[in-house]
Amino acid sequence: MRSTTAIALAVGLLLSGPGCSTRPTATPDLEFSDTALHEEFAEASVRLYVRRHARLLAVSYAIRTAGTDLCGDAVGPILGIAAWRSNPLFGRPFFEALERIYGVWAGSIAVVAVQPGSPADRAGIRVGDQILNVAGGAIHSDVELFDRAAAFEAGAIPIALLRDEQEIRVAVEPLLACRPEAFIEIGDLMLTDRARGDHFYVTSGFIRFAKTDDELALVVAHELAHRIAGMRVVPGPQVEVRADRLGLYLAARAGYDISIAPGFWDRVAIEQPWSLSDDVEHYGWTRVPPHGYMPSRAAAIPKIVAEIQHKIENGESLQPGKI
Ligand SMILES: [Zn+2]
Repeated sequence: MRSTTAIALAVGLLLSGPGCSTRPTATPDLEFSDTALHEEFAEASVRLYVRRHARLLAVSYAIRTAGTDLCGDAVGPILGIAAWRSNPLFGRPFFEALERIYGVWAGSIAVVAVQPGSPADRAGIRVGDQILNVAGGAIHSDVELFDRAAAFEAGAIPIALLRDEQEIRVAVEPLLACRPEAFIEIGDLMLTDRARGDHFYVTSGFIRFAKTDDELALVVAHELAHRIAGMRVVPGPQVEVRADRLGLYLAARAGYDISIAPGFWDRVAIEQPWSLSDDVEHYGWTRVPPHGYMPSRAAAIPKIVAEIQHKIENGESLQPGKI
């Protein structure tokens, strides 16, 4: 509200000043020298990206917990939180805002979202908690936090937190789920293939592009499928169709509407025309192929959807068979 008022005021001053007969071409510096307004923008940005990450968390949590038996060896305890650390990449205002809202400081790991009903929620972990250590080991990054939790195999996972300057210890009861964690990548690329360890990243641009959670589930399940069974080894149309097949089973297992898949991937193909080739050589210009091979995928996806719908209608279990 304050920002709208301040901008209106700034524009009003420009228009009513002595130079109002000339075109007001000067940059309204007033807006950006206003520290309070600047802080408000940064806080709005933090809240926007946390909202997107929370949406990604909700969808990925549903898929990972519903598809545990389809994830082979890539299974481990799931927490059900999104956690951020300070990152100088996005500049000082963003992370000062993060500090104001969530109490995160340089090097600390702050919980920014908790999935309702998840093991972390049941253990009492809350938004704003700082993760000090997991299973006795200090945590230096968000990835390390999830790796350490997922590798713990000795019952309830002990986690030390800092809340209101008090150290708190909780024990998270393990729930086995597909292990690859979904992270948000702040950027406008449609979809990133970047992975650290077994994890995957979905860009904020792709989260915005997915109009509904059913659409976002298709992206998350496809990426999760890539992280299972080494589907990155040989890029090409076969690998993409295998990831689509397992991904559609994973999304359907979690109760998402997969009938929208053909239309959704058509929208993706139109958005990124470089994906409209089945030729592996075509993708050689980029280090990591973007979501390509759309001709093969567009032919296969409706058939996979029909196969899964047939099983649902006949009350059969959703087993993809050999992927
Ligand atoms: Zn893919």
